Amino acid sequence: MSRQIIVGNWKMNGTTRDSQALVQALLGKVTADGPEVVICPPFTQLGLLASTVEPSPIGLGAQDCHKEVSGAHTGDISPAMLTDLGVSHVILGHSERRQEHGELDETVREKAVAAAKAGLTPIVCVGETEDQRESGDHFDTLGWQIKGSLPDGFSGILAYEPIWAIGTGRAATTEEIAETMTFLREELIRQFAEAGKTIKILYGGSVNDKNAASILSIADVAGALVGGASLKAEAFLSIISAASAA
Ligand code: PEP
Repeated sequence: MSRQIIVGNWKMNGTTRDSQALVQALLGKVTADGPEVVICPPFTQLGLLASTVEPSPIGLGAQDCHKEVSGAHTGDISPAMLTDLGVSHVILGHSERRQEHGELDETVREKAVAAAKAGLTPIVCVGETEDQRESGDHFDTLGWQIKGSLPDGFSGILAYEPIWAIGTGRAATTEEIAETMTFLREELIRQFAEAGKTIKILYGGSVNDKNAASILSIADVAGALVGGASLKAEAFLSIISAASAA
């Protein structure tokens, strides 16, 4: 059984005071012999938190990056700026970026290439809408997203996040997750052959301290991408313990 990965996506939350308090509550409780833990605070906190987490096993991720190294892109952050701060991971193609910023599969793919080139591990998100699942189009949607968003030679992490499960308190059922994991693995092998067997797949969407153990024990689930529950130290630590036991 390989080490699970628990990624906390703080989204647009976290003043300096909140962020320091949250990380202080995790320090000492996240240990090197447990699952890999990565927190993804907003850009504004990355620099400060880099020094706070530096002596600990907690990894630091960003929630997005640009596809270029530098240049005239007002408001954007490049992969090189992230590695410069000690960031190791970057979430790409989150449904909120796709929906609110019009990011297309192609944009996500270009960002994944740039991130990997800079030495970051991209965590690429895919997921269907509720309508797509209800109409039975979810596998087609996921198949297209994988083909479009993952570049050749992809060696990052895939996160399956059904859009209808994000922030709703309604996680996908274990059956839905298991069936989707089987589909995603087949697609990854179709696209990347042998290498597709080793790409880790996370589940995200209303993971909490109550459902984490059952979700993390589903075959091929390599960990979780956690939004809301990653903002509460106690809940996030329970999810991390569930991953240790999975
Ligand atoms: C997310 O946005 O990546 C996420 C999984 O959110 P939540 O856990 O709040 O559903």
